[in-house]
Amino acid sequence: MKIVRTIICTLAPTAEQRTELDATLVAFADACNFTAEVARSMHSTNKVTLQHTCYQALRQRFGLSANLAIRAIARVCAALKVPVKMHSVFALTSADYDARIFSFREWDWTFSMTLLHSRAYLATKLGHYQKRQLQGRLPRSATLAKRRDGTFFVHVVLTDTAPEPAEPDGVIGVDLGIKNLATTDDGENFSGDAVEAVRKRYGRMRRTCQKTGTKSAKRKLQTIRLRESRMQANENHRISNRLIAKAKDTGSAIACEDLAGIGDRITARKAQRSRLKGWAFYQLRTFITYKAKREGILVVPVDPRHTSRTCSACGHCEKRNRKSRDAFVCRQCGYALPADWNAAKNIKARGEVMHPVVGPVDAGPRNPVEGTNKPRHLSGSGS
Ligand SMILES: [Zn+2]
Repeated sequence: MKIVRTIICTLAPTAEQRTELDATLVAFADACNFTAEVARSMHSTNKVTLQHTCYQALRQRFGLSANLAIRAIARVCAALKVPVKMHSVFALTSADYDARIFSFREWDWTFSMTLLHSRAYLATKLGHYQKRQLQGRLPRSATLAKRRDGTFFVHVVLTDTAPEPAEPDGVIGVDLGIKNLATTDDGENFSGDAVEAVRKRYGRMRRTCQKTGTKSAKRKLQTIRLRESRMQANENHRISNRLIAKAKDTGSAIACEDLAGIGDRITARKAQRSRLKGWAFYQLRTFITYKAKREGILVVPVDPRHTSRTCSACGHCEKRNRKSRDAFVCRQCGYALPADWNAAKNIKARGEVMHPVVGPVDAGPRNPVEGTNKPRHLSGSGS
């Protein structure tokens, strides 16, 4: 199975290169818009047809190199095939590159790219992560992009073949939640308190901005949102990395809630408050899936219903087993432990049962009727 990853690399161009980069983006966008115009008038999104009609014009009118012209046509064809993008205007913010017009030079961490008038070696500002990913690689495609603040980036596409998932020795059960973002069946716990505390701190600032409603308040609001989501993503990376490392060390599979169930989690009443949280939850689940795939670790999706009210020792299922959000005490056998830990144990047990039947691929959404019949209220009181 192929895994495609995009590594975002900041460029550090000279002033001269900057002008060239800008000119390239302008020419590329103009070429795209020209091609789109032709495509619409011809009622065709066929690459060969458009290449035949537009190629010479793109070379002469916009001064694009052969391969940039081809990339522009390819982009237009791909975009116009999507009905909602049929009438889109191409912005001056990005251009596509393939192996003939783009290469990566490892010894000084530069990208060689064909620009409008020249081929340039562009210096980069790379972090440890980017360097680690790019080491020893010969990427074959990339996108040049410019952000609103004027910074240039290269989005480098790396394609890998995922290892076949190894037959696991055991299963790690992971309970995903809102208060505790993740809890494993051995009791390791990743609390959401740190993120929540920062969110609260921003909360008042956010409300003031929302009320003010001026342009600068809106900008500020956007900054806060970005900061919050960056922090959440950071936390989710940390948790998923830890879980993957744990599974790798012990040769285990990971059992956790299937994605289909996540939409049910958020009740209408709490929808506003929980939107970001629900999204964060989904993100963590997605991180676990793709990182596991990359490492050849099996993910067993399980149906999480009743995992938090069933006793992991005797199997007794009763709502009152869960005394509070945090405490689980079985009313039949008296088994007591933190509620999320108990749920993780149940998920592990289900994962062990299901693994031989269910593959590493998530099942599609559950029957929507079933979903609405049994709403689960996890955000406040737990499922
Ligand atoms: Zn019990």
